[in-house]
Amino acid sequence: MSRRGAHAAYAGLTDVGLSRSHNEDAFVTRPPLFAIADGLGGHRAGEVASALAIETLLDEAPSSTDASVLAHAVVAANREIMSAIREGRGRPGMGTTLTAAIVRGTRVVVAQVGDSRAYLLRDDRLVRVTRDHSLVAEMVRRGTITEEEARFHPDRSVITRALGSQPDVEADTYEIATEPGDRLLLCSDGLHSMITDQEIEAILASAQDAEAAVRALVDAANDAGGLDNVTAVVVEIGTAGAPPVAPPRGRGLAAGLLWVVAALLVIAAGAFGSYSYARNRAYVIAEEDRVAVYRGVPGSFAGVSLHWLEQLTAVAVDDLPLVTAERLRDGIRVEDLHAAMALVSEYRDLVSETATPAGAP
Ligand code: MG
Repeated sequence: MSRRGAHAAYAGLTDVGLSRSHNEDAFVTRPPLFAIADGLGGHRAGEVASALAIETLLDEAPSSTDASVLAHAVVAANREIMSAIREGRGRPGMGTTLTAAIVRGTRVVVAQVGDSRAYLLRDDRLVRVTRDHSLVAEMVRRGTITEEEARFHPDRSVITRALGSQPDVEADTYEIATEPGDRLLLCSDGLHSMITDQEIEAILASAQDAEAAVRALVDAANDAGGLDNVTAVVVEIGTAGAPPVAPPRGRGLAAGLLWVVAALLVIAAGAFGSYSYARNRAYVIAEEDRVAVYRGVPGSFAGVSLHWLEQLTAVAVDDLPLVTAERLRDGIRVEDLHAAMALVSEYRDLVSETATPAGAP
């Protein structure tokens, strides 16, 4: 934890929670690196795995916002854990999630394996940056269960990707366009499975500074039952990890312009990151009482809407089961366009099964 001036620019806090005997979560706040690992394996092996992951990151993470180098550092952490298991440190079956961010000024890259999340708060609104590698997340994406159901699902802690389980694990990476005043949150599932995104949003938006935010978030998870270890790292964007601001070396207008151009390039690169992320996603949503397929993500990100209508289908929302129709009002996010089309064809089958064909006996 650290303070800059009167307010903490970033802070991290972990707590064992109310029902576990020891804490297998680990985190680091060493600008520009911020990371969270949630160890698995029991019998304290999870602690070994999450600590190894953080140690490897400290050695291998880039000092610049290079997403692919950060992803390589996560892969290196996987190698470390795999060889620790081979050498009899920890135990077979131990593993860990890892969600890591490099923050430089307003430039942020994230690499992630598992279900520890990154969120961004802007203008008091919370945006989820990462997509969980978990069974329930997959079910939510398919529209089988809701977000709310996922939080109470018996398989909610089953993760589909972790460090320590296979030699060729891959990290998902995200490049986020942020603005000064935004808050970045990294947290383990001990937070996001205990309280809703709306609650996280309210706490993060009203906290005085990063230190107050992590304290309030951990307290809220424990107030909600504290069923798991809980860890939160909060970074105030535009303050922590920023390179020292040197005055332009040249004099006059030309040097000033150069800085403006550099800043614009950085913003464009960030925007392109969210753009290329969104372009490959898809969702289905109710529109004009019919099922519409969109490429992109619903709503807007950083004030820009990132979706494109692909098809307004003939499937009437009212012909679908009530629960499905209700979900379609908010939109159902899926992996990609292919998955969206598959979902629509499921809906078509549903409608034709329930409809009584004219002239049927
Ligand atoms: Mg956990």
